[in-house]
Amino acid sequence: MAVDPVTTPPAVPGKRNTRQRTAVLRAMSDSDDFLTPQQWHDMVRRQGDAVGLTTVYRTLAALADSGMVDTIVDEHGEARYRRCEEEEHHHHLVCRVCGATVEVAAGPVEAWAQRTATDHGYTNPVHTVEIFGTCPQCART
Ligand SMILES: [Zn+2]
Ligand SMILES: [Zn+2]
Ligand SMILES: [Zn+2]
Repeated sequence: MAVDPVTTPPAVPGKRNTRQRTAVLRAMSDSDDFLTPQQWHDMVRRQGDAVGLTTVYRTLAALADSGMVDTIVDEHGEARYRRCEEEEHHHHLVCRVCGATVEVAAGPVEAWAQRTATDHGYTNPVHTVEIFGTCPQCART
């Protein structure tokens, strides 16, 4: 007989992971920096919550999927996450050492991206542009 679908545990990640999710979001409200899952894991532990690294990875990915946090891929190909104030399309200037982030508008980039897509007959273009550098504070030390 076929497996009764009712016996399989229902997939309700939002409900089941509420504690972990809350812990991660709490850590994220304490920092404005774009940090790696490993760094967020450290922050979560420092605030006294026991959440495994794998869970932090998964929670961050889910939060990014739902649009609650921003994600970027740094120059080493590693995903970094942060809770952005700005909901509209924007860009980031990110410190490669500490993750300190400035949100920046990029008018010329918007115009160039739209024009380039249109020139090639592409519609609904999106783009991802991040600037990585060393922030003034890290440059001093
Ligand atoms: Zn942002
Ligand atoms: Zn820095
Ligand atoms: Zn843009």
